[in-house]
Amino acid sequence: MDHKYINEFDLVERYLMGRLAAEETAQFEEHFVDCLQCVDRLNTTKALIEGLRLVASERVAEPSTHKPGGFWFFSRKSLALAAGVLSLVALAGAVLVINQSRRARVEADQAKSASAQWERRYEEERQSSAIAEGEHRESERELTEQVAQLRTELENGSKQESNTSAQVNLPILVLSSTRGSEPSSGSTNEVTLARSSGSFVITLTLEGERTYQDYLMTILDSRNQIIWKGRGIKPNRYSSVSVGFNSSLFRSGDYLLTVEGVAGDGSTSVLGKYSFRVRKTP
Ligand SMILES: [Zn+2]
Repeated sequence: MDHKYINEFDLVERYLMGRLAAEETAQFEEHFVDCLQCVDRLNTTKALIEGLRLVASERVAEPSTHKPGGFWFFSRKSLALAAGVLSLVALAGAVLVINQSRRARVEADQAKSASAQWERRYEEERQSSAIAEGEHRESERELTEQVAQLRTELENGSKQESNTSAQVNLPILVLSSTRGSEPSSGSTNEVTLARSSGSFVITLTLEGERTYQDYLMTILDSRNQIIWKGRGIKPNRYSSVSVGFNSSLFRSGDYLLTVEGVAGDGSTSVLGKYSFRVRKTP
């Protein structure tokens, strides 16, 4: 049994008025035997009740006389008693106020602890929502990365597509050997290329009966500058070689392509010289 319970159920008053159940009485007595506070309250309340009873009995025993003036008159004794009772009432009131203020303080403390609890719960909720927010941001970042990756893949794919897309009307230069004649005179090999980049193919048929390990091809411009050199070239089964070039490699002008055979010992021998002229469209 504690004071909260005792206050809440007015055990002191009910005890004194004999309105407690036997079990409650026993428990309360067990408590107040060791509790000065409760003993004090019991005494105060008891005095109050007895005082009230006394006043009541006095009033019954000595009924006041009613004078024509309409005033009540009390005996000296009953006035003294009344004063005593009033002071008891004041004391009891003070006790009541103290109790009430204590109760209010307890309630305030409870409210405070409840609000602290709510605050704690709110803080926990805020933190967990912050964590959720962080996770959300993380997954959003991952998604962004994935999208970026997909986009890159898509772009690469479209690049590959453009790499594999067909070029229509690819210029093809079929070279015939000009060996033994001046490249500049009587050059019949000519190709017209678009100025914008594109591809064109040079194809030629190897001459000579001897087969070599592989072939070496060199293209010189009109100033004898090597603009392209291809090693390890192997002809197809019709003894012809086709090489694709990017048009940007060539400018308008004359070129000389030399084909050499590479023997097993690494020695080379010129097999053919092919001159050609490139015209770039404006
Ligand atoms: Zn007590």
